[in-house]
Amino acid sequence: MINSFHPPLRTLMGPGPSDVSPRVLAAMARPTIGHLDPAFIGMMDEIKQLLQFALRTNNELTMPVSAPGSAGMEACFVNLVEPGDKVIVCQNGVFGGRMKENVERFGGIALMVEDEWGTAVSLDKVRALMEQHDDIKLLAFVHAETSTGVRSDAEALCRLARDYGCLTIVDAVTSLGGIELEVDLWGIDAIYSGTQKCLSAPPGISPVSFSERALEKVRQRESRVPSWFLDKKLVMGYWGGGQKRAYHHTAPVNALYGLHESLVMLQEEGIKQAWERHQYHHQALRAGLEAMGLHFTVDAPVRLPQLNSVAVPTGVDEARVRSLLLERYGLEIGAGLGVLAGKVWRIGLMGSSCTRRHVMVCIDALENTLLELGADIHAGVAAQAASAAYAE
Ligand SMILES: *Cc1c(COP(=O)(O)O)cnc(C)c1O
Repeated sequence: MINSFHPPLRTLMGPGPSDVSPRVLAAMARPTIGHLDPAFIGMMDEIKQLLQFALRTNNELTMPVSAPGSAGMEACFVNLVEPGDKVIVCQNGVFGGRMKENVERFGGIALMVEDEWGTAVSLDKVRALMEQHDDIKLLAFVHAETSTGVRSDAEALCRLARDYGCLTIVDAVTSLGGIELEVDLWGIDAIYSGTQKCLSAPPGISPVSFSERALEKVRQRESRVPSWFLDKKLVMGYWGGGQKRAYHHTAPVNALYGLHESLVMLQEEGIKQAWERHQYHHQALRAGLEAMGLHFTVDAPVRLPQLNSVAVPTGVDEARVRSLLLERYGLEIGAGLGVLAGKVWRIGLMGSSCTRRHVMVCIDALENTLLELGADIHAGVAAQAASAAYAE
């Protein structure tokens, strides 16, 4: 006989999922109703409004895709890329590589702008490529690269794209709710995010939003969108406004209760206050880790507050540290990805995991574990330094 599954108690400070608040979990335990029930349709309209608030947009096409962030990525590319389209794809970490895959699978031509992992997308390189080709259709980049902890200048990249008459696709999976993000003000054309990072809802849903210019490109397609499930024209029969909703797929009803609650919480806090909170706790975490003698791998001006890449001290078995943290403290932090595997830890301060308790628990647990493994760090000063940062 297999018994019910009871997950162990964890503190999630990796690259996502982040801790889900009891309020969101309680919302998800409410009774399941039909996905065409008038009460449910009313809640869908509220989710749309709340997403418009969080993304800072009036885009009519703003909705959650019923699948994880990777599907939101695919929804943007499959609708906007047509065979033969030239797309500039910026790669400075793992996720830019997936954008390239998307472009090529949908028949587009990916022109790569590559920057070193741990640095931001270079505006100059993008501009140079736009100068070389006069038929670029799209510029795609990752706003907050979760694999490295780097923020790229989304505002400037979108301005550049507009200057050269091309549309933008922006990955905001980790940036939404954690750092400044202005869809309308910056003129972003297509954006996708995730629920399990700074929104702190469970994984499996991807908010997306398309501007009027992006919709125009979709309308003018010569070929059919090569995905039935992600075709925006079809799904908007269900998610579009009004009382007449046609069955497209069965929405993940309870997961959407959770997203709704997490967005209500964000609205209560205020979007700018949420951005400031991430910066505030990041400063304290940084003070503690640096006092311990650890180093951040990303330059301060482009560092993400919600994803902290920290160099593993020489001679330390980084995987052993992570498993001890999990075993003894129930604390999850992330490993390095790709070229950074074995070299960094990725410490997330996302959404509900961005509190003073998380900062202090992480500093304490990491210090004790590193000392036990004989790492050459400064003992007994980190917690004090973090507290002092809070007192400033
Ligand atoms: C997590 C993440 C994704 C993928 O989201 P999933 O929900 O895991 O599919 C895409 N882009 C970035 C920047 C991410 O951090």
